[in-house]
Amino acid sequence: MNKVTRPDTNEIIRMLSITCPKDIDALYKQAYEVKKQFVGTTVYFRGIVELSNICAKNCYYCGIRRDNPHVERFKLTEEEVIKSALWAYEQHYGSVVLQSGERSDEEFVCFIENTVKALKERTDGRLGITLSLGEQTEETYRRWYTAGAHRYLLRIETSSPELYKKLHPADHDWQARWDCIRTLKKLGYQTGTGVMIGLPYQTLEDLAKDVQFFYDEDIDMIGMGPFIPHADTPLANAIPDYDGDKQLELALKMIAVCRILLQDINIASTTALQALKPDGRELGLLAGANIIMPNITDPQYRANYQLYNGKPCLDENASLCRNCLERRISSIGETIGYDQWGDSPHFTNPVN
Ligand code: SF4
Repeated sequence: MNKVTRPDTNEIIRMLSITCPKDIDALYKQAYEVKKQFVGTTVYFRGIVELSNICAKNCYYCGIRRDNPHVERFKLTEEEVIKSALWAYEQHYGSVVLQSGERSDEEFVCFIENTVKALKERTDGRLGITLSLGEQTEETYRRWYTAGAHRYLLRIETSSPELYKKLHPADHDWQARWDCIRTLKKLGYQTGTGVMIGLPYQTLEDLAKDVQFFYDEDIDMIGMGPFIPHADTPLANAIPDYDGDKQLELALKMIAVCRILLQDINIASTTALQALKPDGRELGLLAGANIIMPNITDPQYRANYQLYNGKPCLDENASLCRNCLERRISSIGETIGYDQWGDSPHFTNPVN
């Protein structure tokens, strides 16, 4: 239940429009103070396993879209997924995210159900499991929840149905996606969503409405990233004067705005920030984010899981990632919440 007032469109646009470096810095500092007060300065890890790049969908911005012939498709076995997830567990990560392209056939649904159950059994229920597996039926979501998953991340990508139409083929339905988010909440999942920032055709008003969407849907966690074009997609050249620095700045401002106005939710500092600047994720933490999702996928598969170009750490194994992250996080004076799920306080402490 939301305990803050509904964010005002003009106020959000005002904050997103700030251009003076001193004022931007003040915005990040304000967000950091709110973060300290409501979620603290402990960073929680969710080790992310990209278990398959096979996808039935064809989103115009995505490098693993169905019609991209330049991708070598892969699907991890159950044992491979479990091996990666158990590695994260042994490293005291607390939780993992199982992510893949979207499939809804029974073989896939069963595969996820069995994998989640096995992970729960092999960790005595101690490993937190988040799923990020796209739009599914209520029955599928229920099966996976019963198997032991307790968080689900389904990005709405944009809260504007009109903009959504420009970014997806006609058979991709914004309303269906919205319905899925509501179903996830109804079933008891801690529910996350998110949007892309700096999309072609997107206005600051669209972004303001995205923040209001998070509020209206009583969202527990947010994973947002800057739009980064992928060369093999229809939107590869949609922004001719694409400026990575500006995209990064807008994404960081969105993180800060969400922290200031929504307060007690979890916000991920996503890898896409790092793709635009090596210390992008640290900047995300300093702008108000509190979650990091280290990639624990076997490096042999990573090159074929590029939703956007320039994804970092493609050839680094999970141990290197862990050491690098520890250094980066302690360099900004924060600590890592090992062995904890790091659930969203918005979900665990609802206040009317
Ligand atoms: S964004 Fe997701 S659903 Fe769309 S093509 Fe990529 S993996 Fe598939």
